[in-house]
Amino acid sequence: MHPLIEKVREAGVVGAGGAGFPSHIKFNAQVDTLLANGAECEPLLYKDKETMRVFPEEIAKGMELVAQATGANRQILGLKSKNHEVIGVFHRMFGHDDTKVVHEMGDYYPAGDEYVLVFEATGRLIPYGGYPVDIGCVVTNVETLVNVALANLGIPVTDAIITVAGAVRNPVTIRVPIGTSMQTVLDWTGGISTGGQKPYALDGGAMMGELVEDFSKPITKTSAGFIVVPEDHILVRRRNASVSEFKRIGQSACDQCSYCTEFCPRYLLGYQIEPHKVMRSLGFKGEQDTFWGSYAINCCECNLCTYYACPEDLDPKQACTRSKVNIRLQDIPYTPPEQPLTAHPMQAHRKVSTTKLTRKLGLTPFDVHADWAECDLQPSEVVIPLKQHIGVPSEPIVSVGDTVTRGQKIGAIPTGQMGANVHASINGRVTEVGDAIRIEAA
Ligand code: SF4
Ligand code: SF4
Repeated sequence: MHPLIEKVREAGVVGAGGAGFPSHIKFNAQVDTLLANGAECEPLLYKDKETMRVFPEEIAKGMELVAQATGANRQILGLKSKNHEVIGVFHRMFGHDDTKVVHEMGDYYPAGDEYVLVFEATGRLIPYGGYPVDIGCVVTNVETLVNVALANLGIPVTDAIITVAGAVRNPVTIRVPIGTSMQTVLDWTGGISTGGQKPYALDGGAMMGELVEDFSKPITKTSAGFIVVPEDHILVRRRNASVSEFKRIGQSACDQCSYCTEFCPRYLLGYQIEPHKVMRSLGFKGEQDTFWGSYAINCCECNLCTYYACPEDLDPKQACTRSKVNIRLQDIPYTPPEQPLTAHPMQAHRKVSTTKLTRKLGLTPFDVHADWAECDLQPSEVVIPLKQHIGVPSEPIVSVGDTVTRGQKIGAIPTGQMGANVHASINGRVTEVGDAIRIEAA
């Protein structure tokens, strides 16, 4: 194993921009291209942009290290062209080295989807059901690269960079100890401004995040930030719609206009995905349900069809999620089409601007830049989940009553399994060990 991979594994580095794929597994590959993903596209979130502005040297160092470990002879940083200041910094750092490229993208959603980024930056399409590594690429988020640079120095992942936005007094981007509760973060930033209404949070963003009403939820390695919204916000109402309501209305009101398909970023890249056909599955049971549902298999759950494309405010994304689950439960193998993948001729012209999307989501009143703030937040306790990544949970290696120090390993990858180590984010005493480890500050 390359020495960097071992350091990354020990430090508990996982993908900070998505589901938390363990980085020591992702980087244990030989490729020709490394793509650093700074093309953040969730409205109102600025964590990647601010990470690139505040930690450019660490990102460049992380890119260099991962390129060496994976044999990549080309390094591409993908980011939006509106981020002029950051682009200038990286152009200066990359200099005249033509193996290092800044790839500028438009301000559209979902520019940060790795299928989109890989295609835009390299012209390559990830094969059906495949991964970037299948076409010689490794894609990794910019915050992950900061964590790689730190891991190389023997410093484990103890903090996460997040944006706090929406109905809050001070929208900010900050770095906080992992395990800090959302409420503690909100208190530090100055609190909410929902005008007396019950607050909800869209944890992870308006498009792909989860609706949360319990603000004791901890920040994890994969947190990108959260958007506070009042209970009468359209996104709360739509997220809270019941499954029976979604099915009943979807079945009767879908006029098969196919806008959901025409705007689907995966369909536009050439993949077999047609959400308007998946909507037909809602009217059937058994074989017909499965047949129409099979058009959902390549859905990335970006929600563009639901929150932007559908003129009837239906939920084709949920229809896709439902069909994917049905097909998985029946263990039906997927056979990709035989014809080669080719992007749709309108792919370059049918991109959805973030500004328009923000307006459609009812978030324009909250659309202010969440600047970086140095954060001295010292939580009185943290709750650190043992599973913040893809794979199996870490095994606790501390017990109630133990004293721990920030950076100390408290959860280890079970032997022979896929997972990530977990470390204490504050100095203190362990007060609970279960699915998460609770530490009371010293
Ligand atoms: S956009 Fe809406 S109404 Fe049109 S086909 Fe899709 S789900 Fe049906
Ligand atoms: S959520 Fe909708 S728009 Fe996004 S990939 Fe799935 S079907 Fe396409």
